Amino acid sequence: MRRRTAGAAPATPADHDTASAPVPETVPDQDPPVRRAARAATMLTDSGTTLVRHARARRARWIGAIFAGIAAGALVFGGAAAVTAAVTGPVISADGGLRLSGTDPTPTEAAASPPPTAIATATPAPEPTVQAAPASVDICAVPAVTAALGSGDDAAAIAAAGGAAAFRDAVASGKAPCVALDDPSHEWVVVNKLRPFSPIDWEPASLAVPEGIQTLEGGTLRTGAATALGALAGAVATEGAGEIALDSGYRSYTTQQTNYGDGGPSIESSVARPGYSEHQSGLAADVVACGNGCGTLDDLAATPQGAWIAANSWRYGWIVRYESGETDVTGYVPEPWHLRYIGPELAAAYHDGGWHTLEEFFGLSAAPDYAG
Ligand SMILES: [Zn+2]
Repeated sequence: MRRRTAGAAPATPADHDTASAPVPETVPDQDPPVRRAARAATMLTDSGTTLVRHARARRARWIGAIFAGIAAGALVFGGAAAVTAAVTGPVISADGGLRLSGTDPTPTEAAASPPPTAIATATPAPEPTVQAAPASVDICAVPAVTAALGSGDDAAAIAAAGGAAAFRDAVASGKAPCVALDDPSHEWVVVNKLRPFSPIDWEPASLAVPEGIQTLEGGTLRTGAATALGALAGAVATEGAGEIALDSGYRSYTTQQTNYGDGGPSIESSVARPGYSEHQSGLAADVVACGNGCGTLDDLAATPQGAWIAANSWRYGWIVRYESGETDVTGYVPEPWHLRYIGPELAAAYHDGGWHTLEEFFGLSAAPDYAG
């Protein structure tokens, strides 16, 4: 989000398409199943083609999995049904998977029931929702994951979980309680209008001035993010798109209080309330394009640098956090200049998966507005 200095006019978004769109009411803090259902309904009825694309892709995978399961079941039953059915009676579990009934129902109960056949009982799985994730590994039961989490090594935790896609699947499906998306010490923290910092004035343990990129205001970032931004700036230049500069990086809670000033609804689509800005994490960077001098934040999108960043920032661990058409999820009008560091592994999974908001990536509620 943009930095706003005292006395400055309220920020004017470059793209009014989404800024003027009606903002849906915030989904109340419901329990996860209800929230997921509500979000799925919203996604499926909204016009977001990407969301539909996700749903289609997942549906295709589910259908493929179902047919594979039926085929495998037919093979299993063809070869072993005579033995297993006579002993315990195979059953089809609720999620469509096959299991042998060794414990539930009891062998006695199972023997009393006619053994089902695979085809007859393998009813299609219910239509998957957008939030449905493939069966995930219990990553919190992997010692190397918990050890890496304990030592604060985010990259090692992701690797031990089986890679970023597996890590995301586990987190988004609610099967990774050891991964705290509200812990700002981790690169996967999600901050939005429903997820302020806790404590509200949280500060990073260490900050650094990035090297390899000019900083207009002496901006700082967390160490890993600073290094990655320098690398990104180098790639922008070497790949022919030109020069960029860091306009604004870390902002303390106190600085945000000054920027927000009297605040109010007129600025809240582009300026966060104190304690709600990603910039407080030290993992967010507002960048501008430079040539003969540097342009403004609003100038970036129309420059070669802006195009390069939109297409390639993920390669260096950064994502464009507030994309066009996502205001009802992120709560902010498009900000092509506001980059968020989530690390190269997660950024690659984000890119490869076709995601456009961190909320959806991690299966969280949309955050169109503050709770109150
Ligand atoms: Zn920003």
